[in-house]
Amino acid sequence: MKRTLLVVEDEPTLRETLADNLRREGFRVVTAADGSEALARFREERPTLVVLDLMLPGISGIEVCRIIRRESDLPILMLTAKSGEVDKIVGLEVGADDYVTKPFSLGELLARIRALLRRSTARLEAEAGSTVDLGEVTVDVAGHRLLRDGTAMPVKPKAFELLAFLIRNPGQVFTRDQLLERVWGYDYAGETRTVDVHVHALRSLIEDDPGAPRFIQTIRGVGYVLRRPSG
Ligand code: CA
Repeated sequence: MKRTLLVVEDEPTLRETLADNLRREGFRVVTAADGSEALARFREERPTLVVLDLMLPGISGIEVCRIIRRESDLPILMLTAKSGEVDKIVGLEVGADDYVTKPFSLGELLARIRALLRRSTARLEAEAGSTVDLGEVTVDVAGHRLLRDGTAMPVKPKAFELLAFLIRNPGQVFTRDQLLERVWGYDYAGETRTVDVHVHALRSLIEDDPGAPRFIQTIRGVGYVLRRPSG
């Protein structure tokens, strides 16, 4: 499967040049010319990584970065026009993972993108192969088990798959349709209520208070997100 990159740059020539070159490197590329378009594309496309220009008309790159970071842990690579330290610090303080200073070579940009993708893939694989603690419950992702005080709890396979998917994408908000697609498969003709039923079942297993969930949270009007305990 091709990985999707979102390229946000208001300067049309640079935007299209970057997109063309990244496509040639085998990525699927979607583009945005300003901050609000960037947020719309981000929410529709769920990219693997965002290349984000700092200086954008309207909503600034910094604000876009902050908003995306609230919704997702995906890697964000900032493009900065100035080489000043302020830009660099600000870029990283708002949650960006790395930056390149304009003008940059395509080779440099690609190296940074690949490094960020390697890092996030390694993190996801490490998580997928290990156990994850959610409060009193331990999720044995590889072993498909939920343990409380060392005892396996009965959990339906689809509910477990949903939980494992959310654990692999912590902090990322998914709509019910997106969860149906990603967990049940594209051809699944079920209703989005199926997702609610499975979330309800999972909450009764993993949450101390299913009515006020700490881990699988409802984002009203959008969908669900899994919040991992820090540390
Ligand atoms: Ca710009």
